[in-house]
Amino acid sequence: MRLFSLLPQRCLGCGVASPHPLCRSCQARFQPESPPDLGQGRCPVCGQVLLAEADRCVDCSVQAWSFPSIDGLFSYQEPGAELLRLYKFGGLACLAAPWARAAAPRLLPPGPLVPVPPLRRNLWKRGWDPVQLFTSALGRNAGLPVWKLLVRRASLSQKTLAREDRLDNARRAYALAPSAARRLDRSPVVWLVDDVVTTGATVEACSRLLRDAGAAEVKVLCVGLH
Ligand SMILES: [Zn+2]
Ligand SMILES: [Zn+2]
Repeated sequence: MRLFSLLPQRCLGCGVASPHPLCRSCQARFQPESPPDLGQGRCPVCGQVLLAEADRCVDCSVQAWSFPSIDGLFSYQEPGAELLRLYKFGGLACLAAPWARAAAPRLLPPGPLVPVPPLRRNLWKRGWDPVQLFTSALGRNAGLPVWKLLVRRASLSQKTLAREDRLDNARRAYALAPSAARRLDRSPVVWLVDDVVTTGATVEACSRLLRDAGAAEVKVLCVGLH
């Protein structure tokens, strides 16, 4: 047990004395970004800034995704990346609630939420699942059901692999839960939820499974987007 109440409390973001896990200035620093203005030099699929005059980014030009676009609350750069580290590893699981409040209005059109499932060994190690926690909070805020339609097979962690290997590994790493096809028949749109999207290999593999099982459209929402 951690005796928080007996210790001087410090901001987990910057270390100043603070009665809250994040001090006021860190709370302001870590405000979620508005959805990207896709007219303003951004890729209309993944939202990343376009470096040249083009209608989409290099990644989205070479890869045909099975989803129309990805929405993220933060760019996965500082300070958003730091905040995600604090959420996953630094004791700030409480961030799921404000992130869910910020993200809920973006779930249009609404549909059931499908979390990307964790590696079993990470779940054992950590004792909780950062994606599941965020998805549950999101479901409560938006009044949407959470459907666990995907399962994770034991496989290599994506982090250690090169980009091309990630796509192959991701395709082998996920499978449909037995109830998936029956439930997807009833929903034209589902929202796939992940914590961080970098190469897009994981969300592509999961989205492809959902589409092949009958989802007419898969939308993708994450907290940190490359
Ligand atoms: Zn602070
Ligand atoms: Zn793109």
